[in-house]
Amino acid sequence: MIATMILMMMVSGSQAADLRWGTNAHEFLMDEAFSYESPACLEQLKKGSADVDAFEHQFSLELSYQHAMRAPYQSVETARTKMLAFIAQAYKDAREALARGDADTSCFQRGRGLHPIQDSTSPVHEGFQVWDPYLNPLQILDHGDQPFSKETLEALRADPPRLQRTIDLMRETDTAGMLAPH
Ligand SMILES: [Zn+2]
Repeated sequence: MIATMILMMMVSGSQAADLRWGTNAHEFLMDEAFSYESPACLEQLKKGSADVDAFEHQFSLELSYQHAMRAPYQSVETARTKMLAFIAQAYKDAREALARGDADTSCFQRGRGLHPIQDSTSPVHEGFQVWDPYLNPLQILDHGDQPFSKETLEALRADPPRLQRTIDLMRETDTAGMLAPH
């Protein structure tokens, strides 16, 4: 366990790094899906998504659902339920921020809520794959910005149907999320 944490820190450097599409891929997806938003909002959308990948969150198996994965002891159904609750809470916060005129916070919370949706189409996440770098440290190298990552911006752009599916899912989630429940 200690060895794995050290490996994660070595490969991660000072930036967040693992449970995600690479940083560039996350930012590219926001630009593509929400090109109609203001530059200020787009910046907050990206910050919100990056917040979910923050380095201090990288060691938790329990929070794998925030990246559309699951802990080894969770079922797919448990992880999906937790992920949907996480998204719903972020959009509740986004709607409340907007209602009080805080557009920046609203866009930031939308970015947080969209993060698991972005991750959900990654080849090394989709279908709620198990995240267990303590048992399988080499798994780290497939992810995020790592040397053998399967989720770089290049990988995403080389797969147009996957890219389009991700953008569609992000827009659908965002539209539904910003509709206040009646
Ligand atoms: Zn992630």
